Amino acid sequence: MISRIDLRSSTEDPRAVLPRAELDVEAALEKVRPICEDVHHRGVEALIEITERFDGVRLSDIRVPKATITAALETLDPAVRAALEESIRRARLVHREQRRTDHTTQVVPGGTVTERWVPVERVGLYVPGGLAVYPSSVVMNVVPAQEAGVRSLAVTSPPQKEFGGLPHPTILAACALLGVDEVYSVGGAQAIAMFAYGAGECRPVNLVTGPGNIWVAAAKRLLKGRIGIDAEAGPTEIAILADATADPRHVAADMISQAEHDPMAAAVLVTDSVALAEAVEAELPKQVEATKHSERIATALAGPQSGIVLVRDLEQGLALVNAYAAEHLEIQTADSEAVAARVINAGAVFVGPFAPVSLGDYAAGSNHVLPTGGCACHSSGLSVQSFLRGIHVVSYDRDALAEVAGHVVTLANAEDLPGHGDAIRARFDWTVPNQ
Ligand code: NAD
Repeated sequence: MISRIDLRSSTEDPRAVLPRAELDVEAALEKVRPICEDVHHRGVEALIEITERFDGVRLSDIRVPKATITAALETLDPAVRAALEESIRRARLVHREQRRTDHTTQVVPGGTVTERWVPVERVGLYVPGGLAVYPSSVVMNVVPAQEAGVRSLAVTSPPQKEFGGLPHPTILAACALLGVDEVYSVGGAQAIAMFAYGAGECRPVNLVTGPGNIWVAAAKRLLKGRIGIDAEAGPTEIAILADATADPRHVAADMISQAEHDPMAAAVLVTDSVALAEAVEAELPKQVEATKHSERIATALAGPQSGIVLVRDLEQGLALVNAYAAEHLEIQTADSEAVAARVINAGAVFVGPFAPVSLGDYAAGSNHVLPTGGCACHSSGLSVQSFLRGIHVVSYDRDALAEVAGHVVTLANAEDLPGHGDAIRARFDWTVPNQ
C-alpha cells in the first residue's frame, strides 16, 4: 500500500531521495492558456461554455443571487452552523493579532520614513469544489482578508450538478455567516481568468487567493502580474516526524486524513523506529478499508509522492523534514516541543499527540491555506499580511535633504546617472550643499 524508503545509511542530498509529487504545472499552463484567453475576450459567454465542458452544468447566470446565499444559511444544519461559527471565532482570534500598525522612523531631524500598511482594494477568493467541497476554505480566505480591512471581496467556487449549478450550499452558508454577498458559481482556470479580466458583474480584482487543483494553480501562475496571487497551494501534503513514542493508530489516521483530499495528495512518515514503521504499515490498510474515500486514499498512499522513510536518528529526520518543507508537518516525538522549535521549513507545524492536522484544517485558529510542493522554504501560508501592502512614505525637509545631498550625488555619479544628482542640485541652486 505504501512504499518504504530506508535512508539510514544514505549520505545523498535529502531533496533528491525524498518522495515528492511531480506536479507538472508548466504542462498545464498550455492547456489553461486558451481557457483564460477565451474568458478575456468573450467574458460570461465563454465562462458558461467552459463550465458546461468541465463541470457538466449549463449556467443561466454566473453570479449567485443574494437571496440564495441567505437561504443557504437558513437551511443549514444547526450543528454545522455552530461548528462553522466556532471555526470563524478562532480564526478571527488568531488573524486579528496579525494586523500591522504603521511605523515612522525618524532617520534624521526633519527626515522620516513611514511604513503604511494598506489593504488590497479588491480581492477574489477561490474556494475549491471538485473532489470535495471546502466551506472551511471560505473561512480561511475570508477571515484574514476581512481582518486586513479589504473592502471589496468576491468568492468563487465550482458549480455542483446536484445543487442546480450553484456552489455547494454549505459554502454559500459560510459566505452568509461571514457577510460575503458577492459569490460566483465558477471553478477551475476559468474562475481565475474571470477574476483577472472581469466578466459580467464580476469586476477585475487585484489579488486572487485560495487553493485549488492543477488547473487553478496553472491559471494563477499564468495570470500572475496582472493579478497578485498567494503562494501556489497544490495537492495537500502531510509529513510526520515520529519516534517510537508515537501511537501508530494516530500516525496512520493522520496520513489518511490528508490522503483523503486528492489521489495526488502526499503522506510521508519520517521515523527512526522500525517498530513504528511496521506498525503504521499494518495499521494503514485496516483504517483505509474502513473509511469512506478508500479508493482515493489508497491511490494517494501508493503514489510516488507518499512513503515511510526510515532514518538513523531524529537529527537526520529533522534535516530531512526541513529539506522537504512540507505543507503540514506533525511532530510526534518524546520531546516534541523542542524538536518543533528546530523546524525551519514548513507551512504549519502541529506539535505533540493532540494537534492533528485535521484540527488545523478546521478549528485550531491557524490558517489552512498553506504552501505546498516545497514552497514552504520561501513562502508563508495565508495571513492578514497576504492582503496588505507596505507603502513607504518619505518625508524630508530642506535641511534633512541638504545633510545627505553629497552622498546622493556621489552615488548617482558612481552609477553614471548624473540626472539623479541634478534632481538634488536643482533644489540648491545647482550646487551640492555641505561639499
Ligand atoms: P477545484 O475547485 O480546484 O477544481 C475543480 C475545477 O477544475 C472544476 O470546476 C473544473 O472546471 C476544473 N477542471 C476539471 N477538470 C479539468 C480539465 N481537464 N481541464 C481544465 N479544467 C478542469 O477542486 P479539486 O479538483 O477538488 O481540487 C482541490 C485541490 O485543492 C485539491 O488538490 C486539494 O488537496 C487542494 N486543497 C489545498 C489546500 C491547501 O491549503 N493547500 C486546501 C484545500 C484544498
